[in-house]
Amino acid sequence: MVERPRLEADGLVRAFDGRRVVDDVSLSVGAGQILCLLGPSGCGKSTTLRMIAGVEHPDAGAIRVDGRTVCNGIDWVPPEARSVGLMFQDFALFPHLDVAGNVAFGLSGTKADKRARVEELLERVEMSDHIASWPHELSGGEQQRVALARALAPRPHVMLMDEPFSGLDNRLRDEIRDHTLDLLKEEGTAVVLVTHEPDEAMRMADEIALMREGRIVQRGAPYNIYNAPMDRAAAAFFSDIN
Ligand code: ADP
Ligand code: MG
Repeated sequence: MVERPRLEADGLVRAFDGRRVVDDVSLSVGAGQILCLLGPSGCGKSTTLRMIAGVEHPDAGAIRVDGRTVCNGIDWVPPEARSVGLMFQDFALFPHLDVAGNVAFGLSGTKADKRARVEELLERVEMSDHIASWPHELSGGEQQRVALARALAPRPHVMLMDEPFSGLDNRLRDEIRDHTLDLLKEEGTAVVLVTHEPDEAMRMADEIALMREGRIVQRGAPYNIYNAPMDRAAAAFFSDIN
């Protein structure tokens, strides 16, 4: 039996003021796979992720998580019940909870189980020393790392990442990105990663999808897209990789 993709989206459409900013987007991602969504600013990447997360309503199309329909024009599963995590750069922490409280927020189980999970995740994002700190005591980059840990904590089956690493300085960015994506792979999460860094996409992606003006215009293995870009604009995107 062929394993079902963890995430399937079919024919997603979203228009604002009569303009289709997402125009018939379909994608699927298997367990432990990373799909990188690349494309110029305004081409519809964030809107696509927001529809999958359930914080934006599609005008048309269907979304399934582990084969279960979460949205198809009739059925609607709310964001918190989809097992879909969404991470983006400006994700704010809860100011009234300390770091441990923030990371434990979406967790169920015994106190000891939750504590173990919180400690594991803070180690991944190199924030163990700050387990009892308050958000206002942390730098922006530190807050972002805690927000990453919080998004990972409930083990969502699908993780949508909208340039979540872009606010971090270089060394931290590479390390935390690698730790985070390794963890997601180990846990069998299906990942959609939006990035504007071509070398990040080449290194991390199992598949790349190029988006333009609301549509996916090319998709394939990183190596294939790099070697056979569909046009000059696609080639230009990869040209500064060294
Ligand atoms: P990307 O993430 O690829 O930069 P977005 O999905 O954020 O692109 O936006 C795609 C287009 O849709 C942009 O032109 C943006 O201005 C427009 N857009 C996004 N959200 C809204 C909204 N709530 N109302 C009106 N226009 C929007
Ligand atoms: Mg965006």
